[in-house]
Amino acid sequence: MPTQPFSPLSPRFASKLPDVGTTIFTVMSQLANEHGAINLSQGFPDYPCHPDLLDALTRATRAGHNQYAPMAGLPALRQAIAAKLQRSRGIAVDADQEITITAGATQAIFTAIATVLHASDEAIVLDPSYDSYAPAIAAQGAIPVRVALRAPDYAVDWQEVERAVTPRTRMILINNPNNPSTSIFSAADLDALAAIAERHDLFVLSDEVYEHLVFDGLEHRSVLAQPALRARSFAIYSFGKTFHATGWKIGYCVAPPNMTAELRKIHQFLVFAVNAPAQHALAEHLADPAHWQALPGFFQAKRDRLAPGLRAAGFKLLPSSGTYFQLADFRGLRANISDVEFARWLTIEHGVACIPLSVFHVDGHDAGLVRFCFAKRDETLDAAIARLASLRA
Ligand code: PMP
Ligand code: GLN
Repeated sequence: MPTQPFSPLSPRFASKLPDVGTTIFTVMSQLANEHGAINLSQGFPDYPCHPDLLDALTRATRAGHNQYAPMAGLPALRQAIAAKLQRSRGIAVDADQEITITAGATQAIFTAIATVLHASDEAIVLDPSYDSYAPAIAAQGAIPVRVALRAPDYAVDWQEVERAVTPRTRMILINNPNNPSTSIFSAADLDALAAIAERHDLFVLSDEVYEHLVFDGLEHRSVLAQPALRARSFAIYSFGKTFHATGWKIGYCVAPPNMTAELRKIHQFLVFAVNAPAQHALAEHLADPAHWQALPGFFQAKRDRLAPGLRAAGFKLLPSSGTYFQLADFRGLRANISDVEFARWLTIEHGVACIPLSVFHVDGHDAGLVRFCFAKRDETLDAAIARLASLRA
């Protein structure tokens, strides 16, 4: 694609990401704001985070924790994470050598990818995929190789994944629970992934930011609990998701010591260290398991509040096993428009913003689906349902 210089005097600029525009999350949130729509598009809560967390942050800043944190992250926070992994999942992790605190999961993802991939290497991405994966791969001069998953269940055909492996493949990216498909991996999925990764000596990047958002008594299965995957995976998490604080942008990466040592080489020159007072506050907040144990019930109630309203409005819902999103088939309401047109129309004409699924597929696959975020106050969900009732009128 031809690139334009910034000005007639600037050097010629060859974009590393010529096909990348503004993310769909920003586009739809802006459209929602412009039209006064209820924003169920971009994934972020509209309710406050826990008052204890806010108090802890105030205390941390007042106590003078306002200078650089250690490069790998505050030891107290890394120890609290290790204790949580042990307590909640029985997973033993060395806080010093295996945990790195990052500026959100996004930076952890980019850093892990930059750690492993050289120019012309390949990384396998399962589509629909979270929007940062492919650009982070492409920015290394590496190649995202897509394997398409399809609605309604988005099951992975692991034989197809293995067929996509070439001598240049270095990494497979997974997202479990999955945004946007809302599906979760079974033990058999992880075993199949482990077998492929071992056979072809691949790294695994496992984005587990929605680890606590799993419903209906189902279980999150982390790569960290599967010995073969534990030895070759970067497992990535986000406090933005777990503690309703997406604006804090603090996450972390868990990986074996040799992988962590390489990751930190990139990390120290990408950010060096991340927000110090927030790390103090999070270390304190993590000490109380009640702060995360309530999450599945809390979000399942919200899912179950929104779902009947969507159904009554004429949407056909796909099962939502995890994340804080609900997929909805709109073809019973408007059969002949694209999902992007539908999302714009719903935002502008009916005042409820959502995300079209096709943008998560490199081939633009459009199955007539949109994504609604239910991490919202009950009043917000009820107001959206009331607006959507006009769809059938
Ligand atoms: N991965 C997935 C699947 C996500 O949905 C998100 C954000 N919602 C992220 C990563 C990024 O997390 P963070 O905001 O901590 O960078
Ligand atoms: N992950 C969030 C979502 O899926 C948005 C994050 C962002 O805006 N970059 O909606």
